[in-house]
Amino acid sequence: MHDRSVSWPPADRRRHRAAGYWDGLPLDRILDDAARRFPDRTALVAGDRRWTYRQLVAEVETTAGRLRARGLGAGDRVVVQLPNIAAFPLVCFALLRLGALPVLALPAQREAEIVPVAARGAAVAYVTAERHQGYDYADLAATVRREVPSIREVMLLPADGQVAAAAHTATHPGIGAGAAAAPGTDDPDRGAGPAAAGDAADPPVALFLLSGGTTGIPKLIPRTHDDYRYNARTCAQLCGFDESTVYLAALPVAHNFALACPGILGTFAVGGTVVLAVTPSPDEIFPLIERERVTVTAVVPALARLWAATAALFTDDRSSLRLVQVGGARLDATTARQLAANLDVTVQQVFGMAEGLICLTRPDDPVEVTHETQGRPISPGDEVRIVDAGGSDVVDGEVGELLTRGPYTIRGYHEAPEANARAFTPAGFYRSGDLVRRTAQGNLVIEGRIAEVVNRAGEKISVGEVEEHLLAHPDIRDVAVLGLADPLLGERSCAVVVARGQGLDRVELSRFLLGRGLARFKVPDQVEVVTQLPRTAIGKTDRAALSAHLLAT
Ligand code: AMP
Repeated sequence: MHDRSVSWPPADRRRHRAAGYWDGLPLDRILDDAARRFPDRTALVAGDRRWTYRQLVAEVETTAGRLRARGLGAGDRVVVQLPNIAAFPLVCFALLRLGALPVLALPAQREAEIVPVAARGAAVAYVTAERHQGYDYADLAATVRREVPSIREVMLLPADGQVAAAAHTATHPGIGAGAAAAPGTDDPDRGAGPAAAGDAADPPVALFLLSGGTTGIPKLIPRTHDDYRYNARTCAQLCGFDESTVYLAALPVAHNFALACPGILGTFAVGGTVVLAVTPSPDEIFPLIERERVTVTAVVPALARLWAATAALFTDDRSSLRLVQVGGARLDATTARQLAANLDVTVQQVFGMAEGLICLTRPDDPVEVTHETQGRPISPGDEVRIVDAGGSDVVDGEVGELLTRGPYTIRGYHEAPEANARAFTPAGFYRSGDLVRRTAQGNLVIEGRIAEVVNRAGEKISVGEVEEHLLAHPDIRDVAVLGLADPLLGERSCAVVVARGQGLDRVELSRFLLGRGLARFKVPDQVEVVTQLPRTAIGKTDRAALSAHLLAT
């Protein structure tokens, strides 16, 4: 079972219910409600296949029956590692139907993450794709089966997302068409548990997300039916989603951003259409936008830069696209402007974390806000504190660490007492590790992470600030600034740049940064030009890999 000691205290649960944040309904009710209201609207497009809401619910039921026939049921934890194919929503909703709990891994994660995650979650099954982007998951699946004692079932699904066609044998055991299709549990009152069980009852966990970060083993983030429904529905409302929304999932849907901010869950919640893109590459994305008349999508900054730089090369009609959400890592104002201009869209910044808190700029905010801040919390129930190193609140405009608590922010990771003691204050605030400041209008600006400060002979350099300036250089396509151990300075700063042209060296960067009024100590001590930056599974700069590489060379 989930560690109950990390749930909300009874008084908070009562408050979140009384305020209407938590409605006591199961997460998968999102799909059933849309199917009742819009049975014949297109719910899902994946490759050449399309599903109306009625068809999607029917296929979820079939899938649930097959999973049940494979021995899965209430309370079972199942590691789901699927790319953006139809099998993702089908399997996840089917597991929710059964009361089983998906543990959502990203397609790019490998043995070093999947094995300990499956073990920590005491997962009984591992569901993945046979192949994705040239990677064959069979060996990984075999390793998971061998190394994780709790695993009973390993299922490799064909990458076209047609779960029903996966009639594999013991070596490639898909959710076979041969398995008996037991009826689904479509009891509309099912899961009304929390409210029915009393206002102070513990909200049941629906699924586990994995914590981000570039080092260490991901932690399991328990998201409850109540809080995750609220997360998805509130984001959808604030982003103006409705049944005419066509959401293109370009980022991995196993990540919180494309899953529930508003992502595919928020789109389903309002009866819109979800279009799954297998890759975020412009040559897949731009034609899909034209073909499906996509209205909104979400990217990380590195993709925003790529799309903005390549948009002119594609002649596809993008006139349907109105909103591009950018989040997951800091977006610089230059890229924001270029994205808005080159794609002719409104840019929305999204700052958030799988642990909970989501901040958004609102689509109708002025451009200074949408291009230069990361927005404000989605819920009046969100509590945000910005504190100095001693834990005291700073005044508006000052930078400090963001601490947060609220109706959809977890109170602890699953079975991780030591990490919980570090990551949560005694009062239950999540210590984000993000350095932020609040503007006079109440928007947050992310200045970096606590560890992302170069301590150069005692002078602190925020890497985010220097990166932001460098990205304004016309010949810099991408950049990461990091601190490297130095015998004289303690740490020296190093800018790793992806250049558009030749001639980017320290002299040029120094000229450029000093010309922008930056203090001399912030000019990078070292400049390395590379062809690309290493990325994490979701597409953020992998700083740990970069430092390791620089230290090794
Ligand atoms: P994840 O849980 O994978 O969504 O990662 C959450 C972390 O990503 C946050 O704590 C931030 O450090 C970072 N992050 C997310 N969105 C933004 C953003 N818009 N700007 C800067 N950092 C961000």
